[in-house]
This record gives sequence, C-alpha cells and structure tokens, in this order.
Amino acid sequence: MADNLEEKQWREKLQEMVDSSSRIVFFGGAGVSTESGIPDFRSRDGLFQQKYKYRPQRILSRTFYNRHPDIFYDFYRERMLYLDAQPNIAHRKLAEMEAAGKLTAVITQNIDGLHQKAGSKNVLEIHGSVHRNYCRICGKVYDAAYMKHTSGVPVCSCGGEIKPDVVLYEERLKTELMREAERYIREADMIIIAGTSLAVYPAARLVRYYKGLKRVLINRDPTGMEQIAQLVIHDSIGKVMGQIKVEGMEQEAPEQAAQEQKA
Ligand SMILES: [Zn+2]
Repeated sequence: MADNLEEKQWREKLQEMVDSSSRIVFFGGAGVSTESGIPDFRSRDGLFQQKYKYRPQRILSRTFYNRHPDIFYDFYRERMLYLDAQPNIAHRKLAEMEAAGKLTAVITQNIDGLHQKAGSKNVLEIHGSVHRNYCRICGKVYDAAYMKHTSGVPVCSCGGEIKPDVVLYEERLKTELMREAERYIREADMIIIAGTSLAVYPAARLVRYYKGLKRVLINRDPTGMEQIAQLVIHDSIGKVMGQIKVEGMEQEAPEQAAQEQKA
C-alpha cells in the first residue's frame, strides 16, 4: 500500500511538471538503453572480462585503439553493435512528447541510435553514434551493418581505416555539440535526467546549467546525486516515462472507441 501511494504521488507530481512545461529537455545515459537489452559496458561481466583481459574503459580509449586496433574492433562489433535492439517505451514517449511540442531536445550519452529509431528528431548524441563510421583517409561513410560484418580492422575501398564516430576515452567531446546541449539545458523549463549516475563527464557539469525548479531524476538505483533534484524516482525508466500523458494525444482513443461501438 505504501508503495502504491508513493507511486501515485510521483506520478501526479511528474504529470503536473510535464503539463506546465513546453521546453522539456531529456538527458539520458546507459540506463535508458539497458531496458532495450543493450548492456551497460561499464557494468561488471565476468565472462566478458575473461575474454578480453582488459577493462572496457581501457579498450575504448584512444591509446588502446591506436595500439591494438584488432582487439578494439572485436570489442566494438561484439559489445557496441546491437543492431536488432528496439526502442523501449521511454524512447517512444520522448518522441511523442517532441511531436506534441513539449520537448525541445534529447541529449544522450548512448551511441545506439534508438531515440531516432523511435522517431525523435532533435537528438544530441554527445558521445557519437555507431551508425556513423568514417574512412580516415577519404571520409566515406559506412553504416553499422557494414561494420558488423567486417573482420579484423575495417578498411575502406580506398585502403583507409574506418573509424567509428564514437568519442573514445582521452578524446575531446565536440565543442559545438556541447555548446548546443548547454543552450538547450539553459533554456529548458524542465529537465528529466534518466539512467545515468551523473558520475561520467560531462553529465554532472551539463545538468548544472538548468536553473529551474523542475529537475527530475529517474534511475533504478540511488546515484548519490538525489539532492540536486526536486523529484527523484527510483524505478524502471520505461515504466515511469510510460505513465506520462501527453496532452492532445490521449483524447483520440475514447472517441474512436465510441464510434466503433455505434457502427
Ligand atoms: Zn576511404
């Protein structure tokens, strides 16, 4: 009972915040994608660690990429490319909110492209995307499916090496994109931060640009950053986002049902 009451309370508060906002920004991390079956590569996984002998953070560093491209690409194909993954209810709700004019931007640390797959238009991928891979010599673009079916170090038709448009550890984030993210957050009337511990740069710094009083934190587990938020929800992101009703979208269904009954 206590749990139900709690859920009812956060649901109402979240809905009130959404209803009174029109420039919502969503800031998402790995937790948004784990509900689509994409594991967080930072989480501990014994088998995986045994196979690669290196920590994921090390493999995904620029130094490692330069020294051991073969291992890097094995890891990339096996652990970063989940081409069959489908958007979950959180991705779909965000696309719906954007279409209804409630949400201005999705800023994501994920590189899987699931927001676009769900229909979101304005997605700022601050760590890049596996769906863009460039030849380092001629600049030709290759998609994720092409990369998935290569072996060893992927090579362009011109002979150049193909590198994913993914920001590696030790590499700089794109300045222009970070400024854009900062601007959206500054201008937001509500920010929803989900599926990120906020421990990873630049998340903690970016979300500070929001100065309003509608800061929502959704995460399965406590992050230690709860004090920054006006509303904290420890639950599944899909479950929480799925409860949001977007104005103008909910009225069609009963009307249609009534018409069907008449006929
Ligand atoms: Zn090339």
